[in-house]
Amino acid sequence: QLVLGILGGGQLARMLALAAAPLGVKSLVVDSAADACAGQVAPLVVADWTDYDALEHFARQVDVVTFDFENVPAETAHWLAERVAVFPAPRALAVAQDRLAEKTLFRECGLQTPDFKAIDTRQDLDLALAAIGAPAILKTRRLGYDGKGQFRIKSLADADAAWAALGAQAEAHGLILEAFVPFDRELSVIAVRSRDGEFRTWPLTQNWHTDGVLSLSLAPAPDIAGLQERATGLARTLAEKLDYVGVFALELFVKNGELLGNEMAPRVHNSGHWTIEGALTSQFENHVRAVLGMPLGDTSARGLSAMFNWIGELPDAAPVLEAVDAHWHDYGKQPRVGRKVGHATVCAPDADQLIERLSGVARALGRDQQAYPAVGKLMEK
Ligand code: ATP
Ligand code: MG
Ligand code: MG
Repeated sequence: QLVLGILGGGQLARMLALAAAPLGVKSLVVDSAADACAGQVAPLVVADWTDYDALEHFARQVDVVTFDFENVPAETAHWLAERVAVFPAPRALAVAQDRLAEKTLFRECGLQTPDFKAIDTRQDLDLALAAIGAPAILKTRRLGYDGKGQFRIKSLADADAAWAALGAQAEAHGLILEAFVPFDRELSVIAVRSRDGEFRTWPLTQNWHTDGVLSLSLAPAPDIAGLQERATGLARTLAEKLDYVGVFALELFVKNGELLGNEMAPRVHNSGHWTIEGALTSQFENHVRAVLGMPLGDTSARGLSAMFNWIGELPDAAPVLEAVDAHWHDYGKQPRVGRKVGHATVCAPDADQLIERLSGVARALGRDQQAYPAVGKLMEK
C-alpha cells in the first residue's frame, strides 16, 4: 500500500489525507503539535523540523513526501529529498518561501508584479519609499501567512511605525516593500502539474479578503473572458520553470484588465477548497495523484460554488446542513481569534440558484452582507 508523507498537520493535511484514502493511499503526518488537526484522520508523528531521528524513521515509512505547510525549512526538505521522493521539489519550495525570489521569478515569466524593493536596513526603507511612494506595504520576505508579518504604510510618516513593527525581523527574514495596488479584484489560479509534465488548471476563482485573511471565494470567477487563458499560460510557464509537481496556487490582482502577481503558494490552497464539491476532481485528490505519479483527474467545475471561511469560531452548522448542495467542513480545531477553523461551500448549477441557496444559509453567515459585501451584492441582484 502506498503511503503519503505530509509535512505539517493542519487542515490542508487533513483534507489531503481524506482525499488520499479512496485512492487506497495511507497518510502519515508530521507536526510539532500533538493536537494537530490532521491527527484526527491520519497517524501523526510528533516531531519538529530538526528532529532528524524522527524524520529518518518517517522517511523510511513513506513513498513520497509532500507539504501542508510551505515554511518547512529548506534544509529539512533537502535532507528528506536525499532519502525519499519529495514533491514539490525543495527548490520550488525555496522560491515560493521568499517573496523577493518569487516576484523576481514572476517577472522572468512575463507576469508583472506590484513595484517592489528588498529592504535590509532602515535606510533602505527610506530610499524604497522615496522610489515607490505611499501607500505601500512592508512585508517580511519569509514566514508570513494570513496577512501576518505585514505593515500597511499609508503615508511617508508611517515609516517609523512600520520599522518599529517589522525592523527587528529584517536581519533574520529580510523585508520587502511593495507598492499598494488599488486592485479591481483578486483572482487565483489553482493549477496542478504531474510528474511527467501534464498541466491542468481549475477555472479561475475570485477571492475576497478581510484583514488580510481570505473570507470568500467564488468559482468560476465571473466576467473572466480573456483572463482565464492568460492566467493559465502564466501559471504553466511558472510551473515549467520550477519543474513543479503537485498543486499550487497563483494569487493575482486584476487592475484595469491587467494581471499582477501577488504570490504563489506551493501547496493546495484555501481558495481551492470549493473544488471538493464543486469540481469533477478536487485539488486535494489531484495533488495526491500528481505526487504519487497517478493520472490527473478532470478539473472542470460542476456549476458555481461559493466558499466561506469560518475564522475564529464556527457558526451554527444547521442552516448549512439543511440547505441544498451546501457542505460543512469543521477542521476539529480549537477556536482562537483569527484562526481558520472551518469552511462551508454552497454549490448550484447557475447564478440564480446559487443566490437563492445563499439566502438560505444567510443565518449561518450571520453577519452576511457586512462580512461578505460581495455576497450582499450578489443577493441584491
Ligand atoms: P496568504 O498566504 O494567507 O494568502 P499572506 O500573509 O502571504 O497571505 P498576502 O497574500 O501577501 O499575504 O496578502 C494578503 C492580502 O492582502 C492579499 O490577498 C491582498 O488582499 C492584500 N494585499 C497584499 N499585498 C498587497 C498589495 N501590494 N496591494 C494591495 N493589496 C495587497
Ligand atoms: Mg502567502
Ligand atoms: Mg496571499
